[in-house]
Amino acid sequence: MMNLTQLVLASHNAGKLKELQAMLGDAVKLRSIGEFSQVEPEETGLSFVENAILKARNAASLSGLPALADDSGLAVDYLGGAPGIYSARYADGKGDAANNAKLLEALKDVPDAMRGAQFVCVLALVRHADDPLPILCEGLWHGRILQAASGEHGFGYDPLFWVPERNVSSAELSPADKNQISHRARAMDLLRQRLSLK
Ligand code: IMP
Repeated sequence: MMNLTQLVLASHNAGKLKELQAMLGDAVKLRSIGEFSQVEPEETGLSFVENAILKARNAASLSGLPALADDSGLAVDYLGGAPGIYSARYADGKGDAANNAKLLEALKDVPDAMRGAQFVCVLALVRHADDPLPILCEGLWHGRILQAASGEHGFGYDPLFWVPERNVSSAELSPADKNQISHRARAMDLLRQRLSLK
């Protein structure tokens, strides 16, 4: 595999950079795409993979450096995988509380056995903007959508996501615990293996 010392992360979110850097370790330094451009590409793909590749190519093109992008969201079985790539804007950009309310409404009267869901994280790494062979790592975190919100930690759909292996909602896990077992942690584990960082 390539010898990487730095990667541009295709995200303007400082919290995400910090979280992914901690998971990646010290061998590779993540730099923010914000150092190079404030413009964000339109996410025109229909899948997590397509959008992650599109963001990574854009970041490599703007920076001239190898680039990493992540695309994540919640896929609910009963809803055919929705909200999926539209997770952040499920309730038309009205925010997390509105997204959660819309999800509960969409699953109204649906029994627990049919409320299966997974958080999804796809990481795409390109060595340069036209890389024909991006490295793709997918992390899935299986759970179920609760009937009502529970827990104060996390963000997004965490209060509605039941984590069977811990018997709590994802918003009841401490941030450190969540970062050990989440979809992002799983995808990052695979990336570390692909980069021979462990
Ligand atoms: P992004 O990766 O920041 O684009 O996240 C997309 C959206 O998916 C977020 O705005 C959340 O609604 C949802 N999402 C992704 N990961 C998580 C998570 O770990 N907990 C809760 N919601 C998440």
